[in-house]
Amino acid sequence: MKHVLIIGSGLSGLSCAIELAEKGIHSTLVSPYSSERAQSVMAAGGINAAIGADDSVNQHAEDTLKSGGSIAGKEVVTGLCSAAPEIIRQLEGIGVVFSRNEDGKVALRAFGGQSRNRTAYAGASTGKQIMSALIRVARKYECQNIINRLLGLQFHSALIKDNKCYGALLYNEKERKTETIYADAVVIATGGQNVLFGKTTGSMQCDGYVAAKLYEQGACLKNLEFIQYHPTTIETPQKRMLITEAARGEGGRLYYMDGKRRVYFMEEKYGERGNLMPRDIVSKCIYDAPSQVYLDISFLGKKLIESRLFEVSELCRKYAVLDVTKESIPVYPSVHFFMGGLAVRRDHKTSIDNLYAVGECASMYHGANRLGGNSLLSAIYSGQIAAKAINELAENKEHPDFNEYISAQEGMLNGQLSSQSNFSAVYIRYEIAKLMNDCLGITRTEEKLLEGIQSVDYYLAISEKLTYDSDVSPYIGYSLHPMLLLARAILTSALARKETRGAHIRNDYPERSNEFAFCSVCKYQNREHRISYVKEDEL
Ligand SMILES: Cc1cc2nc3c(=O)[nH]c(=O)nc-3n(C[C@H](O)[C@H](O)[C@H](O)COP(=O)(O)OP(=O)(O)OC[C@H]3O[C@@H](n4cnc5c(N)ncnc54)[C@H](O)[C@@H]3O)c2cc1C
Repeated sequence: MKHVLIIGSGLSGLSCAIELAEKGIHSTLVSPYSSERAQSVMAAGGINAAIGADDSVNQHAEDTLKSGGSIAGKEVVTGLCSAAPEIIRQLEGIGVVFSRNEDGKVALRAFGGQSRNRTAYAGASTGKQIMSALIRVARKYECQNIINRLLGLQFHSALIKDNKCYGALLYNEKERKTETIYADAVVIATGGQNVLFGKTTGSMQCDGYVAAKLYEQGACLKNLEFIQYHPTTIETPQKRMLITEAARGEGGRLYYMDGKRRVYFMEEKYGERGNLMPRDIVSKCIYDAPSQVYLDISFLGKKLIESRLFEVSELCRKYAVLDVTKESIPVYPSVHFFMGGLAVRRDHKTSIDNLYAVGECASMYHGANRLGGNSLLSAIYSGQIAAKAINELAENKEHPDFNEYISAQEGMLNGQLSSQSNFSAVYIRYEIAKLMNDCLGITRTEEKLLEGIQSVDYYLAISEKLTYDSDVSPYIGYSLHPMLLLARAILTSALARKETRGAHIRNDYPERSNEFAFCSVCKYQNREHRISYVKEDEL
């Protein structure tokens, strides 16, 4: 019987496991923590679907392509948008309670870059509700032994021979031991690369290691230079907390102070819908503002705030000691979403056979910039698409012998617990996060990117001599070199794209250029990071 290994149990991993189960295909779903703690539960704003009377699939696709700087594939984006209304119906069918208007229809709000109200939401906890519903369905299949969930395990590396994947080596950090799982197909569903950038809005579980390791092992990465900053976040000691775009969708206004006068700079520059411009534009305007920018929702009134923006009010009360019904919120742009990731074809297969990638770790629908509300949608949709493709795959009757590889990796994990370097892996990770924010901020220049590359190369040279620090977990140690390679690949991709498009804003190349009207693909070969440009889903 066909068996699939899914790494990551957030929304895209669960969606894939359920779709496989519905086709009678067994899967093992692996993650360090339970699905209830995946980043997907943090999504508050909503999920897009053209279900409004004045909307259409074509309009949704057009907005998605336009926001994505016209480099995402029209066909795949249309596929995503066409599936959206049915996905909303499926979610309702498994118990997601979307907020409703007085006429009983699903309430829709607008996110930045959308020409229509098309974001459905479940109060202020859309992600939580969708995840709870999918977890319930997955439990049903767990009872039938079709889905097997394993917790406490992290991906170590893929088992690849002759460009075909046969399974993965996993690491149990608590018990300090490895586990090998062979499968007919492996699906990567491990989210974005947040921790590489230090403090972001995303989950600390998403560090980009899996994409980084697969890059080291030969998989191609795509569109890495496109990193979305969320315009409105608040500062906390651990991370940046997101003030959902819904706050502006409901009418919230951005301003800065010029003496005693409030300057509503987005409305002055872009008119009535100025506060809802695409995220890259709003972030850049906040970044360029001459003084601290504030978001005002107080005038919306206590009743609306409590019913529709309760989470914003709670967040500000808890983390900023601020009453949003009376005061404005000081906001900062922060790293939020990665349009780039593992390069996949339209069936979500990576450049390695039998290895698939879904959700935020894969690059496909969002081009140079993502429309808010499209990522929950693409996480669900990509899981379903990959499952359909895997359904067509033949079973692996046998697999090559990986014993030598596995013993070598175990040897490294068990034996090498002493550092040969003066730097600790934790320190290097911290320095890299600082550097990534500094060189890959909202605006970039050749000078800064080259500076970043020089520093990463320096740390790469150290990491090749370094084994594992005795004072940290083996994971921090073995993840360091691939993570540095990923950092280098992102910087190299950003340096190579000599234009401004979507979320990639080059001060030294401020215009969009036809020469770069393509997706970038980065491949690590013979210790070099090679960039090429391809159309849509070519690999
Ligand atoms: C604060 C916030 C609000 C958001 N709001 C919205 C919104 O309103 N609408 C919208 O469309 N999008 C929103 N997004 C984006 C959206 O939530 C994500 O893109 C989407 O949920 C990603 O789902 P995923 O399945 O790809 O990844 P995740 O949900 O991040 O799941 C990743 C899984 O991989 C596991 N994992 C990670 N590393 C490893 C490893 N090394 N080994 C094994 N497992 C691993 C994790 O434990 C987890 O189980 C928001 C994001 C944030 C951060």
